[in-house]
Amino acid sequence: MISLKVWIYLFLITLFIAAAYIALSPIKARGDVYEVTAYCACKKCCGPKAKGITASGKTVKVGMCAADKSIPFGTKLSVHGHRMVLTVEDRGGAIKGNHIDVYMPTHKQALQWGRRFISVEIIKDSK
Ligand SMILES: [Zn+2]
Repeated sequence: MISLKVWIYLFLITLFIAAAYIALSPIKARGDVYEVTAYCACKKCCGPKAKGITASGKTVKVGMCAADKSIPFGTKLSVHGHRMVLTVEDRGGAIKGNHIDVYMPTHKQALQWGRRFISVEIIKDSK
């Protein structure tokens, strides 16, 4: 028979390992599921005044995305399973909460992407 003391001892060790694991695992090891949509710089995606300039004032290019106001410009996002690191440079009226809009060079690619639900990690804040 294993005594109660041993059980308590094992329980405390397990607790300690779990606490250490949580404390030591970097924030970037966890991600949230985001709704990931795509857009291009055309008038269909960005309206009749589309000029290909992001909300942060940059010329839109591959690797940029739009995100909620709570994520500052310059924040890097890692999209799981797609080897994509995106920089938040844009905003969108419909881009709120766990939803990002990824820039694609052509409208066709944006349409092909459609709407996906993927785990996205915030790599680091801009400042
Ligand atoms: Zn488009």
